[in-house]
Amino acid sequence: MQRDPILLTPGPLTTTLRTKQAMLRDWGSWDAGFNAITARVCTRLLDIVHGHDSHVLVPLQGSGTFSVEAAVATLVPRDGQVLVLDNGAYCKRALRLTTMMGRRAQALRFAEDQAVSPQRLREQLAADPGISHVLMVHCETGTGVENPLAEVARVCEEAGKGLIVDAMSSFAALPIDARSLRFDALIAASGKCLEGVPGMGFVFIRRALLDACAGNSQSLAMDLHDQQRYLAQTGQWRFTPPTHVVAALDETLAQFIEAGGQPARLARYRDNCDALVQGLSALGLRPFLPAALQAPIIVTFHAPAHPAWRFQALYEATRRRGFILYPGKLTDVETFRVGCIGAIGRAEMQQAVQAVGEAMREIGVLPG
Ligand SMILES: *Cc1c(COP(=O)(O)O)cnc(C)c1O
Repeated sequence: MQRDPILLTPGPLTTTLRTKQAMLRDWGSWDAGFNAITARVCTRLLDIVHGHDSHVLVPLQGSGTFSVEAAVATLVPRDGQVLVLDNGAYCKRALRLTTMMGRRAQALRFAEDQAVSPQRLREQLAADPGISHVLMVHCETGTGVENPLAEVARVCEEAGKGLIVDAMSSFAALPIDARSLRFDALIAASGKCLEGVPGMGFVFIRRALLDACAGNSQSLAMDLHDQQRYLAQTGQWRFTPPTHVVAALDETLAQFIEAGGQPARLARYRDNCDALVQGLSALGLRPFLPAALQAPIIVTFHAPAHPAWRFQALYEATRRRGFILYPGKLTDVETFRVGCIGAIGRAEMQQAVQAVGEAMREIGVLPG
């Protein structure tokens, strides 16, 4: 039987048949049935971070970046000043969009093969009292590094600074508990570790800050304060919702709960990651990161130092065998990336390793 290629990419990713089937119905955006789906999705997302007492959940149309941009525009006053902890490509994107939103922003830079340092953050906040908000990426998908969210949150709380977290590629897999972790806003999306389809993001906003967010956003469509108020008043999205995406997310959340929630998801991704790293290491491929920094979400591998190496050739040869790889995102070293997330397990990862091995022989990087 022919199967669709498996996406070893950090979103869009491979979804289950149940998730795909949930998209076979058309919903009216004003319909009570659809409003019930939206309400259930919001409740279940809050459950995942234990955030019912402290936070509201605001969904937003668009890819994940739309929600990062909306969170910055909504949470940071126009005269605010943002410090972005930067150890990779998604951090740089966050810095760029913050600047484009017209907020003063600066980066605290770290090497791409290191986690961001809470100690250096503490020093920077002491040195520059004008900083109002810290923006961090939990799992830097450009490399796969897990950044120390709990420690950064503690430093921000002690210094009295706001914290905005891009948890796009970690949410629902790595533990995040709003009862023990203080954040102003935390952002994720439908099509990453929740294993839904892409098309909506969502932002957890600390309840105590909501009122003060009125009027911050210079964008109508990206104003999460307005979006939240309209949703609370009417049960409906403010503008046309991505109905099929929401229905798929509702279905994928049901599967997430059935399978054991976040701890089970993390365990499956760890197992996927282990199978991947062991298998590709045996083919002579070297992970870019030390194991201690590696989140089980996406793994960056060094390109082999072989004259026949071309990522595009490996990509195509692996694709013919049913697996989609991901290019690297580093400027200094040549790398490629392999995702561990999606509705796949150890068996699929082992098949992927075999496919990569065959592809390497085909393109001449390994002896036939
Ligand atoms: C996927 C991702 C985003 C959002 O990217 P989109 O292409 O807009 O969905 C943002 N931050 C991180 C860390 C991500 O992994």
